[in-house]
This record gives sequence, C-alpha cells and structure tokens, in this order.
Amino acid sequence: MTPQGMHRSAWENDELSVNVPYSAAGVGTTIVLTSKFTGRIMLMDVGDGAVRDLIELTRKSDFVHDIDLIAISHGHFDHVGGLHTLLGFMRMLGRKESLNILIPTNCIEATSIIKGFCQSYHETLPFKIRYHEITQGSEFDTDFFKVKSFGVEHYGSECSPGEEILMPALGFRVKVGESVIAFSGDTRICAGVEAIVANADLAIIEATRPVAPDTGPRVHLSVEEAEKLGALAKEYLLIHRIPNIDIQ
Ligand SMILES: [Zn+2]
Repeated sequence: MTPQGMHRSAWENDELSVNVPYSAAGVGTTIVLTSKFTGRIMLMDVGDGAVRDLIELTRKSDFVHDIDLIAISHGHFDHVGGLHTLLGFMRMLGRKESLNILIPTNCIEATSIIKGFCQSYHETLPFKIRYHEITQGSEFDTDFFKVKSFGVEHYGSECSPGEEILMPALGFRVKVGESVIAFSGDTRICAGVEAIVANADLAIIEATRPVAPDTGPRVHLSVEEAEKLGALAKEYLLIHRIPNIDIQ
C-alpha cells in the first residue's frame, strides 16, 4: 500500500458516498458523507487540510453551500485543526445558511475555535453558527442526516503517564436514508464503541496502533482490535493510521 493509500479511503452504496480524503494519527482526519439524492454533505471531524481535501474531492469551491452538518468527535488537534480554516472559507465564499456543529459537552478546544471565530468576525459573518454540546445518547436530526452519539473512552494525552484523564469523546451513528454509517472517533475498546459499530452498513474505525502496547494507558485501538470491531458491522474501513515516515 502506498503511503497515500494508507490515509485515504472511500465507500459507497445507492444512497450515499463516504470519503476519507485524509486520515492520519497526529496529523488530521476528515470524513465526508455525501447524500447521492440531495448532494448534501456531513463532515465528521475537520482535521488540518480539510478545505484543501474538500476542494480536491468535490472539484469545486462552492461545496461550502452543501455542508449540512459537522460533528466533532473530540478536541484533539488532529480532529479540529482545520475548523477555523473551514469557517473562514465559508465566510469568504458568502455562505448564507446557518451551520450546525455538534461537539462533545465540555470540548473546550472546539468551543474555543468557534467562539474565537465568531468574536473575530461577528460584524461580517454572513451565516449563523449554531454549536450544540452533546453527550452519550444525544440525537440530532437534520432533513438529511440523523445522528446519534455514543460516549467512548479516550485519554487526553499519551505523554503524561501520571495524568490518565479521559477527555470528552464521542463516536457517531449516522442514518442517511436507510443506510447507517458508524464512526468510532478515537477510543480504546469499550462498550460505547461496540454499540456504535454493531450492524452498521459501514463502520469507520480508528486503527492507530499496529499492535496494542503492553503497558501504559490504552489510548487508541490496535489494528487487531479494530478489525474485530469491524466484524460486528457489515463492512468497515480502518482509518487514523500512524504515518510511516520511513517509506520513501
Ligand atoms: Zn485523539
């Protein structure tokens, strides 16, 4: 597999297409769900480079008018790092429609980006941003995407062994027509992530660790764990792999 192939994947059925234009642990993750009937788009996480990747994927800049909903799984930089840029791009292109953003309750990273953006541009922002703090079991429906959130278990840092603190983190099940798409977010094995993927038409699962570490806090899934979870769904994609910087 090429380095680029490790970080890009896609899936589709009659109702929607799912694109992961880029996902790498510690770099950025963006997942794009597009309804084939309406062209409406839902984003799950907005990693660094999301605007660049969306332009490349859609081959147009006016995708900003098609984005119906954004859901953020947690506040790590590789999942929210592109949000300010995306909001700025929407402002530049004159989006008019209100934008709904789902974020985990107490996800200070996401609220800081959104509040800072709104504060900076409140006099010239052509669209309203409505962010909704959600938690385990929350549901949010638009005309096109029906979202249910599940709490998952994700540590805030792998670098502070003495501070093993779980952060606000969610995964999502999204219904588009009759299709169910599941996204694990970042998580260790827990009941929440099993419920997210069960019987989904497609499960998008983080598989950060090539093998599970012997010691220390379990921050991410291993490939083996992710594949076992994937077997609970009808089909699955593994994302959020560690970049192999040694590949030439
Ligand atoms: Zn994370």
